[in-house]
Amino acid sequence: MTEPSVFRPVPFQDWGLGFQRPLLIAGPCSAESAEQMLAAAQDLRADGRVTAFRAGSWKPRTRPGQFEGSGADALLWLQEVKAATGLLTMTEVATAGHVEASLKAGVDMLWIGARTTPNPFSVQEIADALQGVDIPVFVKNPINPDLQLWIGALERLSGAGLRRLAAIHRGFSWFERTPYRNSPMWEFPIRLKAAFPELEVICDPSHIAGRRENLGLVAQQALDLGLSGLMVEVHPDPEHARSDADQQLTPAGYTRLIDDLIFRQANPTPGMHDRLEELRDLIDQLDEEIAQKLGTRMDIAERIGDHKRAHKVAILQPERWERIMRRQLRLAEHLGLGAAFVQEFMDAIHRESIRRQSAEQEVDTAPSGSPQSTSNGMDS
Ligand code: PEP
Ligand code: MN
Repeated sequence: MTEPSVFRPVPFQDWGLGFQRPLLIAGPCSAESAEQMLAAAQDLRADGRVTAFRAGSWKPRTRPGQFEGSGADALLWLQEVKAATGLLTMTEVATAGHVEASLKAGVDMLWIGARTTPNPFSVQEIADALQGVDIPVFVKNPINPDLQLWIGALERLSGAGLRRLAAIHRGFSWFERTPYRNSPMWEFPIRLKAAFPELEVICDPSHIAGRRENLGLVAQQALDLGLSGLMVEVHPDPEHARSDADQQLTPAGYTRLIDDLIFRQANPTPGMHDRLEELRDLIDQLDEEIAQKLGTRMDIAERIGDHKRAHKVAILQPERWERIMRRQLRLAEHLGLGAAFVQEFMDAIHRESIRRQSAEQEVDTAPSGSPQSTSNGMDS
């Protein structure tokens, strides 16, 4: 059995690599050829703000039959990139074999991908292969929204003696449609930072956004939330990329993206006061997000009211509210929120929805059919 270990994150300033916040990492999703790698790397070097060059050597593909990476050749191209540009190099590892090959090739930093983090066997295999090696490792969040698996992966690596560990927030696969490829669910990186205030958490807006056009918004939000850096996919010819073609930027697009971002104070001096301020900023951001979402929700409730009136559909539908509450209570349990709190909160929202809809028309007040709610069954 693996000993549980106390995970004590080390901030960038103590990594001995001169890293500044925000740390900028960029490069293609997959290493495809020496030419592709060098073209991307030379341009990123010329941009002047990138510290590390990323490229996937082995690509974990959801379905078989797609490009699975260039393997050992990619490691040689990473060496060429380093020699030509001086950028630090970084690749994804998912097995002990990947680790050994990457270390042998002199790759500077490693990352663990979203499909590997959720598997404790794989993470332990990587940790064992890294025992006694002092290499920086970045851990992407698991593809499913599970904070414990993310923390567990960091703890396993820490248990193997790795000190320079950071996290990458790349969004979560979620069953509901969102404007993004992977739902950002910002509360997860925030909760991770709250649990480990010294942990450097960077954002991968490419895999969250899934589309070039949405990258800027996500990257700005990550910076506004005080995340420590960005890992962005950059390809010399994104449209013909062999993986993630829709989300990769050209080097020129990358320069524009970074130019347009608003960077807050780059290196807050560490200390209790700053930490408190940082956490308060996070709370303010979240409160704003909650208010905005509530506003949108009320607007939609009003539109539902209009629609029902236009189609002469009954306003009161208790089973609809019951379904909403059941779903929210299930979610609450999953997120560790108290059922009574969630019920009270949802009831307050429901009352406000009713008030907004009633402002436009007289609403019948029928008794509630819901055993879980004090509100009536009006569509929320
Ligand atoms: C990647 O970085 O190209 C990658 C495969 O990412 P993720 O593990 O986040 O899907
Ligand atoms: Mn990718």
